[in-house]
Amino acid sequence: TALLEVRDLVKTYGEGEAETRVLKGLDLALEEGEFAALLGPSGSGKSTLLTILGTLMKPTSGQHHMLGEDLTAASDRDLTEFRNRHIGFVFQFHHLLPDFTALENVMFPTAVRQGRETGAARERARELLVRVGLEDRMEFLATELSGGQKQRVAIARALMNQPELVLADEPTGNLDRESASQVMELLGEINQNEQTTFLISTHDEKIAASCRRQINVSDGKVS
Ligand code: ADP
Ligand code: ADP
Repeated sequence: TALLEVRDLVKTYGEGEAETRVLKGLDLALEEGEFAALLGPSGSGKSTLLTILGTLMKPTSGQHHMLGEDLTAASDRDLTEFRNRHIGFVFQFHHLLPDFTALENVMFPTAVRQGRETGAARERARELLVRVGLEDRMEFLATELSGGQKQRVAIARALMNQPELVLADEPTGNLDRESASQVMELLGEINQNEQTTFLISTHDEKIAASCRRQINVSDGKVS
């Protein structure tokens, strides 16, 4: 069954002479449990698409459904709730809080949203850090971790609320080859074990080839 579907997606930035049409009637469906790469040159609209799929920005026009809900018509408030429940994000830069530990970085976004720090959230964060291979780094500050380790903390953080969909925007873009392949392996394991659907943008053909499906974006559409 389809986890999400977008149809005839159009996104323009700017107005009048400065208008740029980035997505030009893009169609895409992702099935539950997919492990897909979003491939395209820099500037082709990958981040724009991920931002829309992540409900962080609305398209100029087109339809967007996920988990049976029509997100095109949803209010900002409903979108925020939907996003918090169902979607996790991993970015090229890890965006960890430097003066906090790995454990706190995984736990805090959820704690802040819930308005309190629960024992259950702490336990879930610990489990996730074990899963990403950082059981011996939980109490390290973010600044004490290597690049690959920081990205693994960011992956644990993205999984905190058991999202059905994880959107990763160039998650290996800032890593050396070896850390990059470790991160891809980890994402693949999580996909296998948890049935979490992944959409991973990259301009790196090798990274894309390590995914089970390759989705090419060119000229504002999926080709
Ligand atoms: P990619 O992730 O594939 O590099 P982006 O989605 O970041 O592509 O960008 C696609 C195009 O949209 C680029 O030409 C970029 O300059 C333009 N763009 C992206 N964000 C904005 C914005 N907020 N305002 C104006 N133009 C933008
Ligand atoms: P990489 O080669 O992956 O970039 P680093 O050389 O940055 O790794 O780090 C190697 C190890 O040293 C990592 O396990 C990391 O946790 C630890 N480390 C890095 N910086 C610090 C630090 N300032 N304090 C304590 N441990 C650190």
